[in-house]
Amino acid sequence: MRVLVVEDSATVRHAMSSYVASAGHEVIVAQDGEHALQIVESTPVDLIFMDIQMPGLDGFETTRLIREGLGDFWVPIIFVTGDKNENSYEEGIEAGGDDYLIKPVSEIILNAKIQAMERIVAMRNQLTTLNRELLEVSQKDGLTGLYNRRTFDEKALYQWRLAARNKEPMAVLIMDIDHFKLYNDTYGHPEGDKCICKVTEVLRACVSRPGDLLARYGGEEFIALLPHTPEEGVRHICDELRQTLFDLNIKHRTSTTSDRITISIGASMMNYTTGTTLNEQIKYADLALYQSKSRGRDCATLKMYQPHRKVLVIDDDTKNLEQISAALDGHCSVNINRYQEDWLSQALELKPDVLVLDIDGPGSPGLKYCQQSRNKANNYTTPMIFMSTAEKDVLLELGKKSGARALLQKPVDKHRLIAKVNELLT
Ligand code: GH3
Ligand code: MG
Ligand code: MG
Ligand code: MG
Repeated sequence: MRVLVVEDSATVRHAMSSYVASAGHEVIVAQDGEHALQIVESTPVDLIFMDIQMPGLDGFETTRLIREGLGDFWVPIIFVTGDKNENSYEEGIEAGGDDYLIKPVSEIILNAKIQAMERIVAMRNQLTTLNRELLEVSQKDGLTGLYNRRTFDEKALYQWRLAARNKEPMAVLIMDIDHFKLYNDTYGHPEGDKCICKVTEVLRACVSRPGDLLARYGGEEFIALLPHTPEEGVRHICDELRQTLFDLNIKHRTSTTSDRITISIGASMMNYTTGTTLNEQIKYADLALYQSKSRGRDCATLKMYQPHRKVLVIDDDTKNLEQISAALDGHCSVNINRYQEDWLSQALELKPDVLVLDIDGPGSPGLKYCQQSRNKANNYTTPMIFMSTAEKDVLLELGKKSGARALLQKPVDKHRLIAKVNELLT
């Protein structure tokens, strides 16, 4: 074990160090609390003997700071003191200490304590290893060692959100082994398992950039999430996957597609991930896979997914229109109208998914627009966001009457607008 002795008295420090060393352990010494903190920060230790009375940080404070620094990682800390007061004992345990030794400490007692702590440290290490293994088992698929579906869903969502924030392109690939039921029927289930593992190796080799996520999504179905990957990249990976698998030449004599194992791929790509959901993109990849299957298998279908959500912004203020268009760009397709006569017919014709409307329109009390729209089209149900320069309580009053889904005060806060539009789009 590596034992840290924190003690300001040179005599005691020396005696304890030699006891620890002669019991066969590595010793590190610190003559005060600050020094101990520095050591613990840079060097892993297995056990700490801590003096209480020291100049500067005392043993209790040092212990508290060490516990804070180590977080969940537990290292036994044993106080060593000349003070037999019971209150001080209590304070030490509260500060995060595990045991107490009264000075002068005999070599026998010290060694006994080290041995007892060694046992606990061994148990801690075992627990840490087991926890790591348990996490591994719960995250991964037993046959292939790839992430399982649940883990993919979790990790992919994180990547997705990151890409959405940075307005980055994203691709999802679903890969399915062709005629795999026939393969099992022909060669037996154990051979089928081996085949899945071989295909996994191909996938691992081709989907290997940092940030790429690969998982077993179902029986003989795999999924990959490829951030930052534009269309040429996706095409390249699909070709590489199929070529590498072809070269591996896993024989499949009953396949009606080829003399060997092949896969079909469905890929959905996106330039922006905002304005839609990961599930939608996965569904779209699944659709692409279905098309690959119906095109005869052993091929890839790439589909560019565009959310095609339309937002119509109506405002006579050109500057505001420009700002809103810029803010919403990438979240949806933005259409604008400067409150020309035709605004309502445009709205009805375009059928936007969300209407963003300035209700302080030229020469008219805001609500007129809303009423007009409701009157002219009886079942005009497009969700509307109103913008107004009105005071907050006036806005609230308007809100009650208007049926708008949100009221934003001008000048419009960009982030609130985006959040509202996205909320209404999903
Ligand atoms: P298609 O070309 O249309 O994809 O046909 P297919 O036969 O591959 O697809 P289908 O979905 O009809 O059958 C998939 C088969 O995969 C059925 C199932 O027994 C087999 N399978 C699923 N998981 C495993 C597994 O872990 N090991 C083995 N050996 N077979 C599996
Ligand atoms: Mg002291
Ligand atoms: Mg299949
Ligand atoms: Mg399948």
